[in-house]
Amino acid sequence: MAEKRKYSKKYCRYCEGKVEFIDYKDPSAYKWTLSERYKIMPRRLTGNCKKHQVMAERAIKRARAAAIVPYVVSRKEVIDNPFEFLQ
Ligand SMILES: [Zn+2]
Repeated sequence: MAEKRKYSKKYCRYCEGKVEFIDYKDPSAYKWTLSERYKIMPRRLTGNCKKHQVMAERAIKRARAAAIVPYVVSRKEVIDNPFEFLQ
C-alpha cells in the first residue's frame, strides 16, 4: 500500500467498549469518529463497523445542531486535543 497509514490497527472501538447507544449529549462517546477539525472520519480510517459508524454520525449531526460540536473550525483554532475542555 502506497497510502500512508495514519492509524496503526483498525478495529471498532465502539464494539470493543460494547457501546449499544451513542448519546449526542456526550462528546466523549463519539470522539473516535471525529477528527481534530471536528470532521466525521470515514469508516475506512477509523475501522468502525457500519452499525456504530451510522450511530456516531447521527449523534454528531445532532450534536452539531445542538451546538455541542462545531460545524467548521478555522485554521487558527485547530488544537491538538479538541476534547481537552472535557477534563
Ligand atoms: Zn462496532
